[in-house]
Amino acid sequence: MKVTNTRNCPSCRTIGKIINSNNPIHPGICQDCLNKHIDIYNIKQADFFCRTYNIPFDPNTWMRIVKQAGPNVFEHYVQVVSDEYSGKFNYEVVECNDTIWDEVNRL
Ligand SMILES: [Zn+2]
Repeated sequence: MKVTNTRNCPSCRTIGKIINSNNPIHPGICQDCLNKHIDIYNIKQADFFCRTYNIPFDPNTWMRIVKQAGPNVFEHYVQVVSDEYSGKFNYEVVECNDTIWDEVNRL
């Protein structure tokens, strides 16, 4: 799984390294913007980041990486959890095919 892409940040509009999200309706933003919105030393905000990005939250792993990587924690954390949990979740958008609407309409 590719953790980052270089493209326009949807938040600050500058071209930079975007931390890709596992949430299909949240495209991911750049590390600078993440650091503006999230206090990396506040574990509740780290949890919020993980929920927004739809990735597992592991406070011990988070704090270990904060100590090593500081403001670059986002990139490294996403990389670590996507390796550790590979197979348990994936970064593909689940496509909804037409038959699901037939089922909905029958309800
Ligand atoms: Zn940005």
